[in-house]
Amino acid sequence: MTISIAVPKEVAPGERRVALVPEVIQKLVKAGHAVRVEASAGALAGYPDEGYATAGATIVPDRSSLLRDAQVVVRVGPPTIEEIAATAPGTIVVALMNASRNLDRIARLRDQKLTSFALELLPRITRAQSMDVLSSQATVAGYRAALIGADHLPKFLPMLTTAAGTIRPSRVLVLGAGVAGLTAISTAHRLGAIVEGYDVRRAAGEQVRSLGAKFLELAINAEGSGGYARELTAEEKQKEQEMLAGAIAEADVVITTANVPGRRAPLLVRKEMVDRMRPGTVIVDLAAESGGNCELTKPDQVVEVHGVTILGPLNLPSQLAFHASLMFSKNLQAFLQLLVKPDGTLVTEFSDEILAASLLTKDGTVVHRPTADLMTGGK
Ligand code: NAD
Repeated sequence: MTISIAVPKEVAPGERRVALVPEVIQKLVKAGHAVRVEASAGALAGYPDEGYATAGATIVPDRSSLLRDAQVVVRVGPPTIEEIAATAPGTIVVALMNASRNLDRIARLRDQKLTSFALELLPRITRAQSMDVLSSQATVAGYRAALIGADHLPKFLPMLTTAAGTIRPSRVLVLGAGVAGLTAISTAHRLGAIVEGYDVRRAAGEQVRSLGAKFLELAINAEGSGGYARELTAEEKQKEQEMLAGAIAEADVVITTANVPGRRAPLLVRKEMVDRMRPGTVIVDLAAESGGNCELTKPDQVVEVHGVTILGPLNLPSQLAFHASLMFSKNLQAFLQLLVKPDGTLVTEFSDEILAASLLTKDGTVVHRPTADLMTGGK
């Protein structure tokens, strides 16, 4: 049995990534699956159609027929309303759905009776690590954040000893030492900066130090369930602010990556703290999409306040689309293995822990409880 997998071109503004790259498609084809790819789906990520054809994919110029004949549709971002309408009931759709912000599309997925999986809902368990697109894409974002910070700084990051004198290294402060933060720390460290990291989860301290950076210690441990952080109490927030204010005033680049799932991003860099920063310094706020870690961040904009540059870039993984797509593809390949039985047919009972957790809609129902509650406005 072969499974028919479709890869549409992403259509969200500014999106350059593609869900499957030729290297992974070659393996899927070898395993007996039929992979069909919309024409120029990978072009913006550096994967031309010829590479897909060589890997054994069929290039389909027309999106509607691509979707209509698919058993599984794989995407980076959620399908549009038109795409959902063009997809046959019962088809499996796998993507980063960003469900809480796309309730209209989730309603259409439900009404069209599509079986949809939201990759952001994958449980953060060891077995799911190879499928964890949040982690792989956060790695890309953290790397880009360090480069963007360096790019906007009118200084060198490393110490330099030259005939024109010795240049002191710049200081980079990374707030939030999860996947993105740790990659930002290691990248800034490799570029020669003096790096400090901070996170409310005490477990992050060891990881920060292992990358050659200093960990800012606060007598708080806010590790919640599933490896994520919990929200801080008002008193804890106050203590955090006092400690951070000093470190922020000393920094040349501040990279913020702090998030608490399902909530607005914590406000870590207040306006008064920015006032204390030196002209020429830079803030790169990776939490811009979830409200921002800096009070002055404007999503997708560059804000200048008395010489301090504040950037709130959105969709950084798209800026490194080649490797972001490759990593996304490998995650998808691992996820797809859960959907196919040893006899090559599709799984129909989603009892596996990973599938059960990420299942969003099925048979005309929104299966994921928190999303269903959001849609009905209930609790
Ligand atoms: P995230 O994007 O939700 O948050 C980023 C970081 O912000 C986290 O480290 C969080 O602790 C931190 N943070 C939240 N509030 C803060 C505050 N007020 N001040 C400072 N920092 C704050 O998290 P993420 O990077 O996706 O993952 C976090 C952790 O989850 C990882 O470091 C890892 O330990 C774990 N994880 C496990 C798996 C797995 O086992 N499959 C996969 C990925 C991540």
